[in-house]
Amino acid sequence: MSTHASSRRDFLYNLSLGVSSSLLFPSFANCQRVNKDKKLGIALVGLGSYSTYELAPALQQTKNCYLAGIVTGTPAKEKIWAEKYNIPAKNIYNYQTFDSIADNKDIDIIYVVLPVALHKEYTIRAAKAGKHVISEKPMAVSVKDCQEMIDACKQANRKLSIGYRLHFEPFNMEMMRLGQKKVYGKVKTIECENGFVYGGDPNAWRLKKALAGGGGLMDMGVYCIQGARYVTDEEPLYATAREEKTNPVLFKEVDETIYFTLEFPGGAIAKGISSYNKNLNHLKANAEKGWFELTEAYRYGGMEGATSDGPMKFDPNVNQQALQMDDFANCILEDKQTRVPGEEGLKDLKVVEAIYRSIQSGNKEKI
Ligand code: NAD
Repeated sequence: MSTHASSRRDFLYNLSLGVSSSLLFPSFANCQRVNKDKKLGIALVGLGSYSTYELAPALQQTKNCYLAGIVTGTPAKEKIWAEKYNIPAKNIYNYQTFDSIADNKDIDIIYVVLPVALHKEYTIRAAKAGKHVISEKPMAVSVKDCQEMIDACKQANRKLSIGYRLHFEPFNMEMMRLGQKKVYGKVKTIECENGFVYGGDPNAWRLKKALAGGGGLMDMGVYCIQGARYVTDEEPLYATAREEKTNPVLFKEVDETIYFTLEFPGGAIAKGISSYNKNLNHLKANAEKGWFELTEAYRYGGMEGATSDGPMKFDPNVNQQALQMDDFANCILEDKQTRVPGEEGLKDLKVVEAIYRSIQSGNKEKI
């Protein structure tokens, strides 16, 4: 997709409407270089598809941080990445040499981009090595693991963030604003669905409970839980859920599709669907005086949204990951709290665990 051209088109379009650029790109203000002499070094741990196709390219566009190092278990990738991104040999690690990264002054931030069950181990090892950490979502396979990650980073006096890129994406930020500021009155109901038809390797880690912690709910459902939480700015009290499994062979170990309901203290009810067997990408809030909705809600680009007053007009293709990493680097440089700390990931895992409990018990479960 020609991201740049379409971004520029939208930008000019919005300028013609008289919309200020700070409104269009709300997070850019946070991402300016705060100290021109210091760009923080990031090391990516795990060079799979998200690192390869999203994070490394995004790190070519960041202002506060850059791709300084890699950690990989595949020797063949070392040369390819070193050449492509000009990474010196001293900044290349494998999983055995990882801990010696403590002595490497080029690396300020470790970004853990591994299968979910490994997030805890590498976050804790990174914190012990004296590095700040970003862990990919979902944060871990259990609330207990999330807490251990938070504790380890606190103990090491290092910052911890979760890869929740949508907090830096204008359409989702608008959903937060409209819900939290009650622009259309109190939110009554939320619809949040996210899923895709899994057509990948039947032996991949995503289908192994021990590595993934769960299926569609862990991978896709966390975006729905996030959406419901950031529209209301409340923590849900109860979860009720049921599971549908049409392919018990492929999804032997993990959930395929889950239908869930979350009840919020202010009275809002969220109805969610997570799936590895349905194409879904939607977040809608129905409020007292109107509605607001993203029909392309959780993607890397091509966002689409509207309210009961008409279409939302923002740049649909900002580089979410670049904004996310720049903001975290800026938080470190300015010693500020990240808007997506480990506690955000833990709160989502609390909801995930209640949903799984409800499927087991057949009852409404307290979160
Ligand atoms: P992937 O399968 O493409 O890559 C995983 C990497 O981990 C591979 O390089 C693999 O070699 C390595 N690895 C190390 N130890 C492993 C082990 N024991 N078993 C399997 N692989 C092992 O996965 P991905 O899509 O890049 O996802 C990685 C993480 O990023 C996951 O936590 C995922 O949820 C997250 N993710 C986030 C987003 C987002 O939008 N924020 C998008 C995609 C993935």
